[in-house]
Amino acid sequence: MGALKDFVGSLLLKDFLKGMAVTGRYFFARKITVQYPDEKTPMGFRFRGLHALRRYPNGEERCIACKLCEAVCPALAITIESAERSDGTRRTTRYDIDLTKCIFCGFCEEACPVDAIVETHIFEYHGETRGDLHYTKQMLLANGDRYEEEIARCRALDAPYR
Ligand code: SF4
Ligand code: SF4
Repeated sequence: MGALKDFVGSLLLKDFLKGMAVTGRYFFARKITVQYPDEKTPMGFRFRGLHALRRYPNGEERCIACKLCEAVCPALAITIESAERSDGTRRTTRYDIDLTKCIFCGFCEEACPVDAIVETHIFEYHGETRGDLHYTKQMLLANGDRYEEEIARCRALDAPYR
């Protein structure tokens, strides 16, 4: 009986008509395709993107090489080496983040006592080889210099980096 029903259904092009009905419904529905990069979807309040190392307004690095971010990182993505300077303060001599390991959990910025390491809203970056996503201290400081105004404004407002 089921086979006969299928046979009659196929003669009446039942599946074809069902498919066309779905096509017709979506043909006239409101389009939700986003024309990226000209258009962008809204970003979540807590979006965590590319990392940056910040400086104080006088140009001094904020990071005091306490290594809390390195210790808390669940992905072991951060590598820090440090040394004491002639003025007795301690600073990093190496601060690397391997973004191929990073899971963007935000623990590093939460752990930082001086707001040195932060995650910006930047998501438009890429690497063509594995090494391209290995961010060094100089690259992270450059990110901080580039986006500091925006980072500081959003931190002051306790708002997302937008
Ligand atoms: S965001 Fe999370 S995984 Fe990435 S470096 Fe920071 S602590 Fe590690
Ligand atoms: S970025 Fe912050 S938590 Fe990490 S070593 Fe520097 S001061 Fe410490």
